[in-house]
Amino acid sequence: MKHVSPESTGADETVLYAADRVRTLIPEQPLAEALVTRGGKVVAVGGRRELQAAHPGVRVVELRGATIVPGLADAHAHLAGLGRTLSILNFAGTSSVEQILELAKTAPPASYEGEWLVGRGWDQNTWPKGQRDFPTRQQLDALFPSIPVYFTRVDGHAAWVNTEALRRSGVGATTPDPPGGRIIRDRQGEPAGVLVDHAMALVVSKMPRPTEAQQETRLRASLQKCVSVGLTSVHDAGTDSPTLNLFRQWDSLGALPLRVYAMGEGYERGKQIPDLGSIQGKLLTFRAVKFYLDGALGSRGAALHAPYSDEPNQRGLLLIEPTELEKRAKDLIARGYQVAVHAIGDRANTLALDILARAAADAKVVDPRNRIEHAQILRMEDIPRFAQLGIIASMQPTHATSDMPWAEQRLGPERIAGAYAWKSLLDSGAHLAFGSDFPVEDSNPLLGLYAARTRQNAKGEPAGGWLPEQRLDGEQALRGFTTGAAYASFAEELRGMLRPGMDADFVALSVDPVDDPPQRLLTGKALLTIVAGRVAYQDPSLTAESRSSNSRALVQGSKSPLAR
Ligand SMILES: [Zn+2]
Repeated sequence: MKHVSPESTGADETVLYAADRVRTLIPEQPLAEALVTRGGKVVAVGGRRELQAAHPGVRVVELRGATIVPGLADAHAHLAGLGRTLSILNFAGTSSVEQILELAKTAPPASYEGEWLVGRGWDQNTWPKGQRDFPTRQQLDALFPSIPVYFTRVDGHAAWVNTEALRRSGVGATTPDPPGGRIIRDRQGEPAGVLVDHAMALVVSKMPRPTEAQQETRLRASLQKCVSVGLTSVHDAGTDSPTLNLFRQWDSLGALPLRVYAMGEGYERGKQIPDLGSIQGKLLTFRAVKFYLDGALGSRGAALHAPYSDEPNQRGLLLIEPTELEKRAKDLIARGYQVAVHAIGDRANTLALDILARAAADAKVVDPRNRIEHAQILRMEDIPRFAQLGIIASMQPTHATSDMPWAEQRLGPERIAGAYAWKSLLDSGAHLAFGSDFPVEDSNPLLGLYAARTRQNAKGEPAGGWLPEQRLDGEQALRGFTTGAAYASFAEELRGMLRPGMDADFVALSVDPVDDPPQRLLTGKALLTIVAGRVAYQDPSLTAESRSSNSRALVQGSKSPLAR
């Protein structure tokens, strides 16, 4: 893993970055040719010649062919989850049970936690037609009769386990469904091998925790992955206390490669609201707490007002009692925290809006900026309430394009009109913050920008886009990952734009996310990621190409900022 030592990258030096274009997102000067940074801040933006003349002797970094945009923020993601996904078995891209079992057969040692084989990313909706029911424990038992196996579904809201895992966890025919969870059962009432939402905890609580060293290695890999795709900030949606402690240590040592806006986990069954304190470090901020109100649509855990269209006896799951959530939210808001509520189904969203509205009014805080995470399926009458109540819609464009093949089966033609409705929310005046929910989706924000502009999959399907009236233009999409995410973290005065005086967080991309045809974003990449004026990541092509004569990206100056 590459470590960028802050000293070697000279945040205090004055540096001019010149690219094909600089998208500042400043309304009065949206385009420039270059920007100058010093001391971790943007000093100037403007024409390249005029800036060079105004800063004689400035070190110049040429980024030909590149577009510089404000640092990209992922407003909802899971850093520890990504780190784990990078090491355990990953079933992303598989399209059958056979493919998954094939991968499991040759699992490398890193995919074990203690004796348990652990994997993630299966999605029965991608399997051949006629085989899209939940998988069974027997399918795993054939290969793993004595090793316990735990494979999490792509959305993190269901797990596929074998008989040995159930045996070691003491889960059997007489085990009742826990509140907020469901044990899928066969005709005899035996657990069939899939556990939904809180039922997963029956097994997870019996699994060995990864070692501290394992967790540290995974988290470092996760942070490094983020800067390599151009992220300068991640809102971590559910940071547990060991992870928060690591972030705190690394931040005080200057070893965090990007900004982390940590949202603490707000609820553990039976536990009091912990006294959390708050943190404003160098790159680490902690002042938000997140709750799960319902599950996910793919595993039919999203709480709906009316039954699922494709399973009439299911209306989803609430993972916390609404009265308990309201009590906790009110207490936290009164103590100055921002409260974020995961709500996917329309019923969960109505409840979350009601609860956050009452809690904020009771707490009498001027600008609480509470957030609903996902805001995925909304009744039409709930859409304007986000703007009215000042509640942020924290949404994930790639969820729409991943879910579109089956979302309408779950919801029916009427409810689908308020699903993934980011344009309707924007038009209503709501604050939108965009993210990926990685590792549920890919961490690359260019894929999110593509999905927001097109509502299409990577093959360009469906033609014209799914529910195309919800498409955004390139700048609206970019704002979701920049100014919108900054606002959602109380940082709009410091980040999200490239304005003199603001933090020098930016990324040079190989594509222009605003004006290039959207299809180009799929093959685009981050060339250079700068956080607080320091190089957090550089693409290998930058240094290689700078040595060749026909270079597209060229680093000039007596001392390359990029050479280490
Ligand atoms: Zn999430």
